[in-house]
Amino acid sequence: MNIIKFNENFPDEVSCILQFKEQKDRIGVICPKCGCKEHYWLQNKLRYECKHCHYRQSLRSGTVMENSKLPFLYWYIAIHLLTSTKKSFSAAELQRQLGHKRYQPLWEMCCKLRDVMGKRDDIYSLSGQVELDNAFITTLIPDDQKDEALKRGTGSQNKSKVVVMTESTFVENPKQGKPPKAVTHIKMKIVCDLKAETTTNIVKAYVDSQAELTTDASTSYKKLKEHVKKQDAKGHC
Ligand SMILES: [Zn+2]
Repeated sequence: MNIIKFNENFPDEVSCILQFKEQKDRIGVICPKCGCKEHYWLQNKLRYECKHCHYRQSLRSGTVMENSKLPFLYWYIAIHLLTSTKKSFSAAELQRQLGHKRYQPLWEMCCKLRDVMGKRDDIYSLSGQVELDNAFITTLIPDDQKDEALKRGTGSQNKSKVVVMTESTFVENPKQGKPPKAVTHIKMKIVCDLKAETTTNIVKAYVDSQAELTTDASTSYKKLKEHVKKQDAKGHC
């Protein structure tokens, strides 16, 4: 959604509240006291009242906005910026754009959103065309281990082993000289070793069983065929 579309859909606080309530009703509201699923809607208080025990809960209860006093519109703008901009933005920038007096609540909002979005990304299963690779990333060595001699190669203490999974989709009309694929998601997981069993467990956890997997020709990938729809080794397909 670009900024114009966003502004059309969410021009003010009321439109954000309406959309938020619609989403919440679709998922279903459950009374935390008695488990009842039927509620009255108290429009002027923005609260649900349980039809059975009359317990009241706010529209924000059980969501990332719980305990926040910031307008829904602020949350929607922050979500829009976090999901639609390629570069990251700071809470200070958001504060400046919104003209809000205090920095702390905006900083907290950004932290909470990044946290829930990270969790959502973590449970996302990669599907379609998925390429699997290993990478070694240089890491900082703790002060108390700095005197130890560095091991060479892939076992070195200052190299973390990472499994990189890249999901992509085919593009109908790729630009000249560009591959006919566009990357849609990337997942990177730090692992303690690159044994077949470790890689297999990572694939089982993060790649959909209907995915088509591409790997290099390493023998440690041979068993992956059992967990995905198709597996090809690069250079052999
Ligand atoms: Zn109840």
